[in-house]
Amino acid sequence: MRVSQYFLPLLRENPSEAQIVSHRLMLRAGMIRQSSAGIYSWLPLGWRVLSKVEQIVREEQDRAGALEILMPTIQPAELWRESGRYDDYGKEMLRITDRHDREMLYGPTNEEQVTAIFRDAVKSYRDVPKNLYHIQWKFRDEVRPRFGVMRGREFLMKDAYSFDLDKEGAKRAYNKMFFSYLRTFARMGLKAIPMQAETGPIGGDLSHEFQVLAETGESEVFCDPAWLERDILAGTVDYDGDLEPAFRDWTSLYAATSDIHDPAKCPVPADKLATARGIEVGQTFYFGSKYSKPMGAVVAGPNGEEIALEMGSYGIGVSRLVGALIEVNHDDGGIIWPEAVAPFRIGLVNLRVADEKCRAAADDLYGKLRNAGVEVLYDDRDESPGAKFAAMDLIGLPHQAIIGPRGVAAGTIEVKNRRSGAREDMPVEGFLARFAGR
Ligand code: ATP
Ligand code: MG
Repeated sequence: MRVSQYFLPLLRENPSEAQIVSHRLMLRAGMIRQSSAGIYSWLPLGWRVLSKVEQIVREEQDRAGALEILMPTIQPAELWRESGRYDDYGKEMLRITDRHDREMLYGPTNEEQVTAIFRDAVKSYRDVPKNLYHIQWKFRDEVRPRFGVMRGREFLMKDAYSFDLDKEGAKRAYNKMFFSYLRTFARMGLKAIPMQAETGPIGGDLSHEFQVLAETGESEVFCDPAWLERDILAGTVDYDGDLEPAFRDWTSLYAATSDIHDPAKCPVPADKLATARGIEVGQTFYFGSKYSKPMGAVVAGPNGEEIALEMGSYGIGVSRLVGALIEVNHDDGGIIWPEAVAPFRIGLVNLRVADEKCRAAADDLYGKLRNAGVEVLYDDRDESPGAKFAAMDLIGLPHQAIIGPRGVAAGTIEVKNRRSGAREDMPVEGFLARFAGR
């Protein structure tokens, strides 16, 4: 993509409404624009990152055996009356009336909706276990929407729902999601620690909040520092095998949010315990028959007996993750994208657009990178080198390839690693071998 043809409205100044770094940088880098409080449009650069995050979430859900569906954003109030949550949910729920005076709502979550789908379709024990998920916008009329996409009113969530015959089955489903979450966040380069958590309005008795440690996190969290050494991607997860021993092993390390943490009962001595702030990027719940019973989601067992399904639900804040990623990956110059979620892998900068040779060299390289399928953003604008460097640092692409008169004369490209700041001059062929697999 050529910057001259792109829609990249960068801001030079820090927007005054943004209190935390991710919000500031997302506005400045032209990733998002606010529509109304807690509601955002995603511009091309932001949308690319959101899509990459979403795709990693999707791949790891699929890998764990969950099946993707898409449920609507608007739900009938009737469903929520069945579960008893319509009144409980209070002002966070955006309630809508259609032209026939039917009560509708913009879904804050989908337990009721998916339970109704499952109840109507599934009648026999042979049809479970199943785990259905979707990636869909949610609306919660938060009292204090703030921090940009981190606490929005409209936000993108992945929510999965498991259906099993019994508690053991439900625990197997829970374990699969637990490990798929560890893998999902690790693939984005995030250390998200599963913490024992309160179940809140969803209900149930087993829950983990996955917390990314960051100074601006809204939760106070406590954990065994050994968590920070753990790496899920170092091994493989066998989703067909028994994950319980591995689950016990991982959760044997203490980690809890302040809601649950009790210094008197904490197994880690106070001087060893890590205390930090956390951003909740996901939460898993096991809640048994809390929805299946009132909503009549039952199947016939092997002997014809009626079995209320055992359920769990598993959420990931897809849009919040974009903010969380920036909170832990930035410097004074701007964002530093991890490769896995970077909107483009390479930022190609032509320092001297007016110079015929520079332009030919940059155009040529751009063409070769594109042909090799490399995601490249090519700054072909007639701007000062300083402005171009600042823009590239701000938007945070992992690698910058800089073309100027001296390099063109020598047949080299200056390559800068955004994270380390390291620069090296590479011959064009070497550069292509490294980045375009030639
Ligand atoms: P929080 O405690 O942060 O309000 P929650 O516990 O109410 O979140 P869940 O119902 O667990 O949220 O939703 C699943 C995930 O959706 C959360 O872990 C979080 O990452 C994300 N999420 C929840 N509320 C918001 C929001 N207002 N804006 C952006 N993401 C959100
Ligand atoms: Mg939660």
